[in-house]
Parts: sequence; C-alpha cells; structure tokens
Amino acid sequence: MIEIDPVKCVGCGACVRICPPKALTIEVNEKETILKYFIGRCIFCWMCVQTCPQKAIKTTNKFELSAVDVHELQMELVHNTVKCRVCGKPFITSKFVKEVGRRLNGGFKDDLLYVCPTCRRKLTAKKIATKVTGVE
Ligand code: SF4
Ligand code: SF4
Repeated sequence: MIEIDPVKCVGCGACVRICPPKALTIEVNEKETILKYFIGRCIFCWMCVQTCPQKAIKTTNKFELSAVDVHELQMELVHNTVKCRVCGKPFITSKFVKEVGRRLNGGFKDDLLYVCPTCRRKLTAKKIATKVTGVE
C-alpha cells in the first residue's frame, strides 16, 4: 500500500487526477478538503507516487491488507479549505495556496492566489477586454 505524509501533503489533488481506479478521491466542503485513500480499489501502480509534487506519497512493503470491516481500508487526510474571495466558493486548501505563494516567491499577485480558477479567468478576460476596447 501507499502512505501519505500529512505534513508534506498540501491537498493539491494531482494524485487524485492521475489515479486510474479512483482509489484516491478528494472532497471539498465549506471548511475542509478531505483526501481519501481506499485501499480496496488500489491497483498499486505507483502513479500517484511519481506524480505528487510534494513527494508526500511513498510506497511501502505492507501487503497484508485484508480487513473484516471495510472502513479499515479507508484512510483520510483533512486540510482546511480556502474560499474564493470573489465568488465565495470553496476551491482549494490553505496549505496549497501557501505552497504556491512560496514557490512563486512573489511572482503571482497575492490577492489572485485566493481567487478560484473560474473567477481568475473572468477577471483576466475583463482586464484584456478593457485594455483592448478602453471600456471599463
Ligand atoms: S499529489 Fe501529493 S500533495 Fe497533492 S494531494 Fe496528493 S499527496 Fe497531497
Ligand atoms: S498506487 Fe495507483 S491505484 Fe493506488 S492510489 Fe496510487 S495511483 Fe491509485
């Protein structure tokens, strides 16, 4: 099975998108972003290990994975959720926003870090339209 380091993981969801059988899933609600690993679905392909930008997932030699209770095959990692400062929709974890800010080292305006991708696209389109037409 794999193991996810709760300190290194920022809840970016890259492992979820790459996981072929959807053994990894992510749930975003108003307060929390929950990364779930269901061992019962894992095919041990290690694609998540190779994909994680934080190197938070590692392979282990734990292979005796049968359980009486199905809940024992489910692991969860909980992060705080950040809401978009434009539309108010929860969209990413606070740890992820901080990590992006750290990696870009001020290369991205701080206020845009807290704007969801949909609103960011709209704001950028508006800015370009204003520049081209001169109309606010
Ligand atoms: S790819 Fe890595 S950092 Fe991103 S959610 Fe998965 S384990 Fe966490
Ligand atoms: S090892 Fe493969 S199947 Fe298992 S969680 Fe990672 S990507 Fe998904």
